[in-house]
Amino acid sequence: MSSEWGTTCLTFEKDPEPFGKARDANIVAIAREMGVNVVMKTSHTLYKPEKIIEKNGGKPPLTYKSFQNILMNMDLPPLPQGTITSEEVEDKQTPISDDHDEKYGVPSLEELGFDIEQLQQTVWKGGESEALTRLEHHLERKAWVASFGRPKMTPQSLYPSRTGLSPYLRFGCLSCRRFFMELNELYRKIKKSPPPLSLHGQLLWREFYYTAATNNPKFDHMEGNPICVQIPWDKNPEALAKWANGQTGYPWVDAIMTQLRTEGWIHNVARHAVACFLTRGDLWVSWEEGMKVFDELLLDADWSVNAGSWMWLSCSSFFQQFFHCYCPVRYGRKADPNGDFIRTYLPVLKNFPTKYIHEPWTAPESVQRAAKCIISRDYPMPMVDHIKQSQNNIERMKQVYQQLVHYRGTIHPAIKSPKVDHYPPPPPDYEKPRSNKNGKNDIQRDSNYRVQVQA
Ligand code: FAD
Ligand code: MG
Repeated sequence: MSSEWGTTCLTFEKDPEPFGKARDANIVAIAREMGVNVVMKTSHTLYKPEKIIEKNGGKPPLTYKSFQNILMNMDLPPLPQGTITSEEVEDKQTPISDDHDEKYGVPSLEELGFDIEQLQQTVWKGGESEALTRLEHHLERKAWVASFGRPKMTPQSLYPSRTGLSPYLRFGCLSCRRFFMELNELYRKIKKSPPPLSLHGQLLWREFYYTAATNNPKFDHMEGNPICVQIPWDKNPEALAKWANGQTGYPWVDAIMTQLRTEGWIHNVARHAVACFLTRGDLWVSWEEGMKVFDELLLDADWSVNAGSWMWLSCSSFFQQFFHCYCPVRYGRKADPNGDFIRTYLPVLKNFPTKYIHEPWTAPESVQRAAKCIISRDYPMPMVDHIKQSQNNIERMKQVYQQLVHYRGTIHPAIKSPKVDHYPPPPPDYEKPRSNKNGKNDIQRDSNYRVQVQA
């Protein structure tokens, strides 16, 4: 092909993940063999992950705090490149034959064998134009929050919004560097001062996971993964299937899993809820199984962020506060107090009074009949007793950690006498990163609790 088309140079974005790195190395070798010059550029992440690792003494930082400290002493990420103009391309042309589309065009969904009649209207429209419109909305919201402040999480947050960006960052429709730069510019305009690094909290979390994963081909596995605590999870395909198909009998969990399956995106809080339920909270199924389901169903499924977040949520790495579990009833009620989210995604429950909608099995039979939904016939009974199950699991987790600590030495008081708390505070809040000075309620404090799992 290179001789037929007169190709002299191949340029592409460097893939920071192990799979992509191996693939790209093969392509580069072939190109070089054919005498094609190769130019690879880093742009999927803000920084070059290797640079951060180098500054951390050759290992990726494994706490967010140490990660931030390193960034603090680095130059700002490079600015995004401008749009290529026809002047820049000058007289360079690729000859295109009449049958070019036939031969090389992107196949349609029908051609790929999908029955498009069955498909619902997409909630997330693809492409760069859509991404840029969303970025604008996202920045408007940030400007609003910066100027007037506003409660961050509302029941409305659980639905897809026009400010959501993750699928666009995932597929490169939106450059993370452009996002970074535009947020900085906005901040300067509003606050008339240089933006702090913490302004970019969410994007930096993404960067954190990418950096942790880039040299670890086992990042998405438990076994053989040097940063992952080895936990004897149960093999339980039936439980996994119920979770994945939204049939746990806990409406909050099932509504989230239905939203994930039909729309391809769920809120961070919802991810916390269902990930905890599958792993250390209730079902004691390995995070790797949950990660695979997310990988299949999430539009923003991202190898590094997905695996890293699952390790986090299951207390397998980064985070060890296993004595806090999300209660699928009380946590659901807090996030969705009127039950509207449940009614949207589980219409079978839509007639239940708000009082019962998060635990419909407690409704008297007359109420179930009036709601035209008999629990165990029209909607399942809860598959587990959350209180019992989570207490058991906390004990199991405590044993795992005790063995670890025994092996390493000191034991933290929190692990000696875990607080059984079924009504935990909201998950770590990434919206507005706190200053780490007092170390309250963020990963810095976690690092005090931290059992060192890395040799
Ligand atoms: P915003 O809050 O508007 O943030 C802007 C961008 O910052 C996001 O688009 C995303 O790129 C990044 N970001 C935000 N929160 C996080 C976070 N906690 N960790 C890392 N990056 C973040 N995010 C993915 O992009 N891909 C995944 O595969 C993924 N898997 C996850 C799995 C689990 C178990 C959990 C708990 C979280 C996961 N997340 C993942 C992180 C987070 O839930 C999503 O990035 C976020 O919900 C996307 O919505 P948004 O674009 O409105 O985010
Ligand atoms: Mg959002």
